[in-house]
Amino acid sequence: MGSGIWSMHFVGMLAFTPVIPIRCDVGMALLSLAASVAACYMAFSITSSERTGRLRFAVGGLFMGIGLFVTHVTGMPIMCADSLLRYNPIYWTLSAVVALAVSYAAVQLFIRFRADPNVKRWKGLSAVVIGLGICGMYDTGILATRFLNGDAAIAGQSGFAEPNVFPLYGVALTVLFILIASWAALLYDRRVLEKLAYSDSLTGLPNRHEMNRFFDRRSGRLSGAAVLFIDLDRFKTINDTLGHDVGDLLVQQVGRRLQTFLDDKCRVFRIGGDEYLVVREDCPLSEARGLAERILHAINVPYLLQENELYIAASIGISLSPEHGTDRFALLKAADTAMYSAKSTGKNQICVFDDVMDKHLVRRMELEKDLRKAMKLHEFFVVYQPKWNARTGRPVGFEALIRWKHPKLGVVSPDEFLPIAEETGLAVPMTRWMLTEACRQNLRWIRAGLMRLPVSVNLSAGVFQCRSLIDMVRRALDETGLPPELLELEVAESKVLYDLEAIIEQFSELRSIGVRISMDDFGSGLSSLGSLDRIPLDTLKIDRLFVREIGSASKRAVVRAIVDMASELNLDVVAEGVERKEQIEALSSIGCELMQGYYYGKPMERPDMEAWLKEHSQAG
Ligand code: C2E
Ligand code: CA
Ligand code: CA
Repeated sequence: MGSGIWSMHFVGMLAFTPVIPIRCDVGMALLSLAASVAACYMAFSITSSERTGRLRFAVGGLFMGIGLFVTHVTGMPIMCADSLLRYNPIYWTLSAVVALAVSYAAVQLFIRFRADPNVKRWKGLSAVVIGLGICGMYDTGILATRFLNGDAAIAGQSGFAEPNVFPLYGVALTVLFILIASWAALLYDRRVLEKLAYSDSLTGLPNRHEMNRFFDRRSGRLSGAAVLFIDLDRFKTINDTLGHDVGDLLVQQVGRRLQTFLDDKCRVFRIGGDEYLVVREDCPLSEARGLAERILHAINVPYLLQENELYIAASIGISLSPEHGTDRFALLKAADTAMYSAKSTGKNQICVFDDVMDKHLVRRMELEKDLRKAMKLHEFFVVYQPKWNARTGRPVGFEALIRWKHPKLGVVSPDEFLPIAEETGLAVPMTRWMLTEACRQNLRWIRAGLMRLPVSVNLSAGVFQCRSLIDMVRRALDETGLPPELLELEVAESKVLYDLEAIIEQFSELRSIGVRISMDDFGSGLSSLGSLDRIPLDTLKIDRLFVREIGSASKRAVVRAIVDMASELNLDVVAEGVERKEQIEALSSIGCELMQGYYYGKPMERPDMEAWLKEHSQAG
């Protein structure tokens, strides 16, 4: 703007060449350029802050006005000898007033329309107003000036023989060049910035901002579209084990594969670390499913990344417009919810949004949010369930089970909140708390003269991965003073298989300090049968699924096989979930004596458990 004003002045002066003799003082010319630029800079920096009040506008306008006027007034003598100029005070004042008014309008218009993308036309119009205003000021300034020897010049009687216009052309061209160059730079910057802001540097796909823009531009016109929310499964594990470089490569390659689905109806965005969004217009449910299946297929094809052959799965959630919403928020939330559900029901699947899903998810998210605070707020408590020897009719131990008393939802079952705890990393501190709590309570009961029985604590999978299990157990025993043989650790079979060698090592160490180890839920789901002889164990707990169906001959055969095998391997066997007398008889008849279940005692809070222990220690 500064150089524009200045060059307008100089180019304007060129118009006078035939009338008055012109000269040029390069030093002064540069000085007046500096004045013009400085004035504009001051004006805009004063007014460009987010909240510009009237005073700032006034001061900014004043600066620019003074700058304009000074450029003009100093510019005249630069080109015409002082002695040749006289000024008319009225026009002179008028031109100063015009300069101020134009400048005030300039900053107002500039700032007002700066941030608003919808007023392109207004921006153009304000440029025209400012331009005309500056010209007006210039013309008033010229009107105010009388060129004393004008007539003589016209008559060709000037003291200056040849007007020296070369420097002026030079200056004008330079300024023109500066303007064009800065305009081009601006345009280029805009493009680069736009690219940076709206596309993802890793994959080159449009990013989340672009996705927002896409939805906002089409608001209300997306009817019939399908939104596919794609999230890679176990991406975090890949990042953690193979490094972020491989993770980046994977994200890139998945992006490339997704790009093959692009066409004039289909858009692909990368909206997060391993999250992509595909939007397809005119796409009914059946077609959306087909598309999702093809995408899943494409993602499943193995990747070769830095000599690692990787098999990647993904979870895809689908939402449809208008059934699940018409705006970005509703469609995205629905697709995200559906994706979440695909993940939690086994991964590498496609789920279409429905409302039931949403209710589950709302509860889950509420639990997740509150779980983080639950420990601090002392909302966890422990219940105890006895284990019984059916042959001797004596208790043989008890299991500590965690409970969460949610302030609004009441007591939440561990089956519901433990998976959340595992995912969010809260399972480790929770296990630590359970260990200490159970050990301390057991010792109190022993000291109170109740029975001397081992307490068992369930371990979550996370504690094996963080490798602090041994320390955690040692610390709990040291802190509470419970003898190690009175602590038993229960680990579900499915969790053992994850990293067998590491688990074997940790179990051996635990058993070497005297702690007992029990394999929980044995026979359900994944089987560790092939390596059972290698895992250091004391007890197998037969899953309650078998006990429930012990009436069937085939299930009874399986249980008998487990009992025989356990006796070969020198392991105790506990049957879980014993509820009825017939079950006890069937189990006893095949040699399983240790039992746990509602028949002998439900999980009890501390006072009830205490009463139970008292009752049975007297009986003993
Ligand atoms: P689990 O280790 O198999 O625990 C036994 C579960 O069976 C308990 O459920 C118990 O209440 C239930 N149960 C006991 N007897 C019967 C019966 O006769 N019939 C029926 N139908 N059920 C019976 P709960 O307390 O809801 O715990 C569920 C699971 O949550 C536990 O299964 C265990 O895997 C986990 N869990 C509980 N407390 C903890 C804990 O402190 N840490 C960890 N990591 N996991 C825990
Ligand atoms: Ca258990
Ligand atoms: Ca169990």
